Amino acid sequence: MVNFVGAGPGAPDLITVRGMKLLEEADLVIYAGSLVNPELLSYLKPGARVMDSKEMTLEEVIAAVGETEKAGGMTVRLHTGDPSVYGAIREQMDALDRLKIPYRVCPGVSSFSAAAAALDLEYTLPGVSQSVIISRTAGRTPVPERERVSALASHGATMVFFLSTGLAEQLSEELISGGLPGDTPAAVVYKASWPEEKTVRCTVETLPDAVRELGVRNTALIIVGNVLSPETAERSKLYDPAFSTGFRAAKPDRE
Ligand code: SAH
Repeated sequence: MVNFVGAGPGAPDLITVRGMKLLEEADLVIYAGSLVNPELLSYLKPGARVMDSKEMTLEEVIAAVGETEKAGGMTVRLHTGDPSVYGAIREQMDALDRLKIPYRVCPGVSSFSAAAAALDLEYTLPGVSQSVIISRTAGRTPVPERERVSALASHGATMVFFLSTGLAEQLSEELISGGLPGDTPAAVVYKASWPEEKTVRCTVETLPDAVRELGVRNTALIIVGNVLSPETAERSKLYDPAFSTGFRAAKPDRE
């Protein structure tokens, strides 16, 4: 059995209780050493085998899983954040399907949630944006043409960019060419939830300077949108006394 487990964004207590229990039971743990906090490995039982996937190919990962499976063991494949976001789990699942090795996914706290927490930010503010676009700039991995940054920017929705700090200049230009005013608020969050977490608030125009100022290339997210300047927001309908919900009748105006 293979469990794909979301390790969370970094802080070892931001893994789920289920994920922690699976780590305690695992005979083999293959973790993404470039991003997963190694402190999580302290949850392992004595004698568990540990492998770092950053030095491995897909074939090597599957071979190690296959060996553990033959010996009747359980593998945890530990992915940073939530495995469903840029986790490259589909190709592993396909390979496991071919070998008839069963698997299950344990979700995790994605770094985009931890970044919002670091900024005291709500991504979906009434009257500002009710959508979050998760994307990345096209680097060595191409992004489909219809999802180019300028096309996404035209919605004016909240945007969260993974894997993009290395191309901040290009990102800034494409956001502006997509119609976003240069003074649209933006932020960069480095290592959300880690002790070395850093945040910088900027604008779409000054984004490249902000990334330079932080001096980071990896493990950072770029957030763009007017939700970063909350003075523009309306209050929610959900907690509005004049609004009925499935659980609560509207109260007459008390004024
Ligand atoms: N599955 C992961 C994302 C993997 S892609 C998730 O859900 O978070 C790797 C990218 O995620 C990094 O390049 C960076 O953009 C982002 N990332 C991962 N952990 C991060 C953290 N703690 N703080 C900020 N960005 C992070």
